[in-house]
Amino acid sequence: MVKVIVCGACGRMGRRIADILSEDGETELVGAIEAKGHKDLGTEVIPGVKVTDSLEKIIDRAGVVIDFTNPQASLKNLEVAAKFKKAMVIGTTGHTEQEKKLVAEKAKTIPLLMAPNMSLGVNLLFQVVDSVAKVLKDYDAEIVEAHHNRKKDAPSGTAAKLEETIAEALDLNIKEAGVYGRKGMVGPRKPEEIGVHSVRAGDIVGEHTVIFAGPGERLELTHRAHSRDCFARGALEAAKWIVKQSPGFYDMQDLLGLKGSKK
Ligand code: NAP
Repeated sequence: MVKVIVCGACGRMGRRIADILSEDGETELVGAIEAKGHKDLGTEVIPGVKVTDSLEKIIDRAGVVIDFTNPQASLKNLEVAAKFKKAMVIGTTGHTEQEKKLVAEKAKTIPLLMAPNMSLGVNLLFQVVDSVAKVLKDYDAEIVEAHHNRKKDAPSGTAAKLEETIAEALDLNIKEAGVYGRKGMVGPRKPEEIGVHSVRAGDIVGEHTVIFAGPGERLELTHRAHSRDCFARGALEAAKWIVKQSPGFYDMQDLLGLKGSKK
């Protein structure tokens, strides 16, 4: 049985993970963390598991910590996991480049899986986009992502990873290629641009479309999450997998064995 603590346990993702985890025969929820002062502290996320505010006090019970909070909280939780040498899964998005480097540095001491999107479909999309970008290298590549109106970061971590995938495939400098929305007299599109556009509306769970447009045609690759279950199930698979790994920095591509297939 893999013993799991969920940080951000009362959030949209945390609640789905707790529910799915409690129905899974190979994992056990042993702790649920929210920040000090949270309205749900003391309530039960599933029967017998109360929400508490100190990861440090309960981390001994767990084999792995799953974090779906916010960037700052995830870094604090990572400090605790590293101090107690526990494996960790970070699904939280919105980290700066510098924060991502901090995470990678900590991963030298514990097994850590971090992925902006835990769904199988999106991780396959990364592979497909890499292949398509290499073939349609003269086509204009643009990314459109849509999420619910409560999402805090933009563009989504998944859109940022899609952008990185295209930039790497085309050997572009991501810092110069990314164009985040357009307004005013921006002039003709430069061939080396990668446009990224963020829609925030209603309760959209998560949609990503990559457009490759050329003379007389366009190819659109779309992933739509119908519910948060695809992310929650992925996070659970990640938790089961990461406890068996040596210290290091991993992502869902490692778990799915997709890294070797990149050409
Ligand atoms: P959410 O509903 O806002 O949930 C985040 C939860 O974390 C909230 O309950 C929040 O409490 C809590 N929290 C804040 N600070 C904390 C701390 N110090 N310790 C413990 N808990 C703390 O957000 P969400 O939709 O679940 O998303 C969470 C993160 O996961 C976001 O970064 C999102 O982009 C990302 N995400 C990733 C994937 C993926 O597949 N990797 C999929 C979906 C979402 P308050 O409400 O009091 O702030």
